[in-house]
Formats: sequence, structure tokens, C-alpha cells
Amino acid sequence: MTDSAVRVRFCPSPTGNPHVGMVRTALFNWAFARHTGGTFVFRIEDTDSARDSEESYEALLAALRWLGLTWDEGPEVGGPYGPYRQSVRMRDGVYADVAQRLLDGGFAYHCYCSPDELDARREQAMAEKRAPGYDGHCRALSEDQVAAFRAEGREPVVRFRMPDTDWTWDDLVRGPITFAADQVPDFVLVRANGEPLYTLVNPVDDALMRITHVLRGEDLLSSTPRQLALYGALAEIGVSDGTTPRFGHLPYVMGEGNRKLSKRDPESSFQMYRDEGYLPEGLLNYLALLGWSMGEDREFFSKEEMAEAFTLERVSQNPARFDLKKCKAINGDWIRTLDPADLGTRIVPYLAAADVVSEPITDEQQRVISAAVPLIQERLETLGQAVGMVGFLLVPEDRFRVDEADAAAVLTAEATPVLEAAVAALEAVEPWDAAAIEQSLRAALIDGLGLKPKVAFGPVRVAVSGRRVSPPLFESLEILGREKALVRLRGALD
Ligand code: GLU
Ligand code: ZN
Repeated sequence: MTDSAVRVRFCPSPTGNPHVGMVRTALFNWAFARHTGGTFVFRIEDTDSARDSEESYEALLAALRWLGLTWDEGPEVGGPYGPYRQSVRMRDGVYADVAQRLLDGGFAYHCYCSPDELDARREQAMAEKRAPGYDGHCRALSEDQVAAFRAEGREPVVRFRMPDTDWTWDDLVRGPITFAADQVPDFVLVRANGEPLYTLVNPVDDALMRITHVLRGEDLLSSTPRQLALYGALAEIGVSDGTTPRFGHLPYVMGEGNRKLSKRDPESSFQMYRDEGYLPEGLLNYLALLGWSMGEDREFFSKEEMAEAFTLERVSQNPARFDLKKCKAINGDWIRTLDPADLGTRIVPYLAAADVVSEPITDEQQRVISAAVPLIQERLETLGQAVGMVGFLLVPEDRFRVDEADAAAVLTAEATPVLEAAVAALEAVEPWDAAAIEQSLRAALIDGLGLKPKVAFGPVRVAVSGRRVSPPLFESLEILGREKALVRLRGALD
């Protein structure tokens, strides 16, 4: 196989909101395709009408678009192996046709066992210390037995007839893996109501779409022997071209306290990263580190650099720990790479959502943002943090509030002479710029009142910015303007 023949797929089911585990899988497949000059196929596995939703489908497309993980074949892009939504393929009869051919070829059979019967036999098998999986009960029913079941009104499922062999593959990440024959019982391909299951549709589409490499989460490892077996049958009935994809299973992503990151953990929600103002570059960079390393301790890179370097040898077998602090820190590094004007534009939607600027912003708001960005760029880890850092410079006076805890701690009785001296100093300072403001406040508070800088500037900072932590004080005062600064200082005195 030449490199350019590589075809990988990202094939999520559109249930609920996209999560970071999914995005990691998409990223690794994308990087592998780009590294090899292959094809990145995006397929939607939406055959479960009870759980899938159009909203979730839209969210998946929006997520990949926002991240810049462009797909070569898939929804809205098309391609030679479409359609790329399984719900459409199902309506077209793709899976019913393959199921019928598997039945005709003897690779699958109808199973009439009821759930209660299956449960009872499973319990008995476990009591007798036999393998608990399906026991092959319906593998060779006589015509009379079938007729009797039909007469009872039973509708059969379609079950795959597992060949009686062990299953071994050389995993692209984990090396050789073997499942013993009795670990992989005959499994259901189509429900009694005719709905095809993941066990059928996923390998069928991988075969029909000529997928060469399956890179997916380790949670799916136990389905691989079944897929290998099904692939064998698909080759015999002419659905596959005879090649079986190579499988590579990406390590688990662990959350807090040594358990797998779950969809319920807030940091697993992809939307959270957009809401809080992560950059696509930052999120992708962090997710790349979940199970892959560039080497040479390099942890800061773009997705293009990742693609350039991406080989499966560097995918780890060990579980990866999700570390939100590190993710934030990397995002902060990406924020620092932005041109200040660009950063100013990117924070506007967050400021608007918090209602501290109008949409579109006014010229005066633009002036404040442009002046404030250099003061916060070093400290921002997410775009959303800009609201807390510069909101006080933008918010209308009638909505300006001092944080209660900070006021209680800093705006005490001892602060009164400090604030009075600051008002007097700032009324007179000329010109109104950071250097002159600093000079006059130092003269008034440190030289004049004999205070330490922290005691001197703390009350001024809280009175003017509303918080104990703010961007540099003198620059902030310059941006805020004399009038507003004095209003707030007098407000604090009241
Ligand atoms: N639709 C499956 C899932 O989201 C795909 C699994 C696979 O990659 O084979 O879990
Ligand atoms: Zn049966």
C-alpha cells in the first residue's frame, strides 16, 4: 500500500453534545490522514433514531469546522462513497441488502430466542462456569422449529455466525492482541424490528468506504474481533475488496481520581471550551498531548506541525490524564501569540455576552479595548476571562459594582484617608497619563501618608476596578479617564 492510499474515518454517533474524547479521536485521524497524504472521511452513525438528534448532528459539524479539522469526504462535502449519513444509507437499503446476502451465504442466521430465554440460559451457563455469551441455540433450526416459532408470532433477529477460531491482530498502538474463540460469541446484526445495529453498519461502511486504518478509542477494542470476523464474510460476499483495515486503539482519557473521563464531567464538554473562550489552536494543541507526544519535550505546536510529525509509534499505550489546568495554560500560550488587534476582536463576543459592550461596539468601546488588550494579554488564559479583567473599564457607571468581599477586606475605615488623598491627587494631575498618575499617587500616598505601596494602592484599586486583582493600576486609570475615576473613588468614600 502506498501512503496516499490511506483512508481513515471519524464516525461519531450524533447523541448529545460533542465531548473532548470524540474531538481527540477526530484530531488523531485527521493528523494521520494529513501526515500520510491520505483521505479523512467523516461519517455520521445515526441509525439509532431513539438517541440521535439533528441538533447533535449540527453540533458535530460545527465543532469540526470551528476546530479547522477539514474533511475530504463526508456531509456537505460529498465524495465517491456517499452518502455519509447512515440514516440515509439505511433508507437506501444498504444494510438490509448486506444482511440478506450474509443470510443467503450462511454467514448469518435468524435467531428466535426471546430476551427472557437468553437471560435464563446465560444465568445457567454462569452457574455451570461456562462462557455466558450466546450459545448458538438457533444456528441450525429445522424448518419445523422455524415454523413453530413463526406460528407463536416471534420475529427473529439476525445473528452473525462466528467462525470457531481465535482472533489475533497486530494493533497499531498496542501490538499483538488475541481473543480466544469462546470470548466472542455469535452477535446480533439486525434487530427484530429490522433496525441494523452498530455491529453491522460500522464495519459494512468501513468496507464499502474502503477504510484502511481504524483509529479509535480503547473502549471499542472488544468489538474488534467481531469486526474482523465480519470483514472475512464481507470479502466472501463481495462487499469488501478483500482488504481488512488495520486497527489502532487510542488510550483512555482519565479524569479526576483515576477513573475514565465521563460525559458528565464538565471538562469533557466541547461546548464548555467554546463558551469559556478557548482558541481552537489551544484546545487542539492540548488534546494532541492526550496520548501522543511530539518528542523532544515539545508541548507547544500547531495542528499543522502535529500533522507533519504524526506517526502511530508515538501514540502511547498508557492512559492519558486530562489536566484542565494544563489545557488552560497552553491556551494562554496561544493567546499570547495573537496580534493584539486580533485578540481585541476575539474578546468582543465575550464582552458583549456579559453585556459590558454593545453589539456592534462603539468607537469609544473600541478605543478602551485597544488600550486595555496589551495590559491583559500576558495574563489571559481564556478569552472569557477578559470580562473580569477589563469589564470595569467598559461597564456603564450605573452598573459598576465593587466586589463585596474585596470591599469588606480593603475598603475599611483605614482606607478613608487614602481615598481622600487619592481624590485630591487625581483631581490635580496633569497630563492624565499613566506616568503622571503614578507620580502623583506615589507622592500623595507613599511620601505624603507614609504608606507601603500595598496599603496605599489596594483601596484605590478596589474602588476603581471593583476588585483586588486588576490590570496594572496606573494604566487602567489612564484608560478609564479622570471623570470616572473620581466618581468611583468618591463612591467608595460614601
Ligand atoms: N459510532 C461509533 C461511536 O461513536 C464509532 C466507533 C468506531 O470508531 O468504530 O462510538
Ligand atoms: Zn436464538
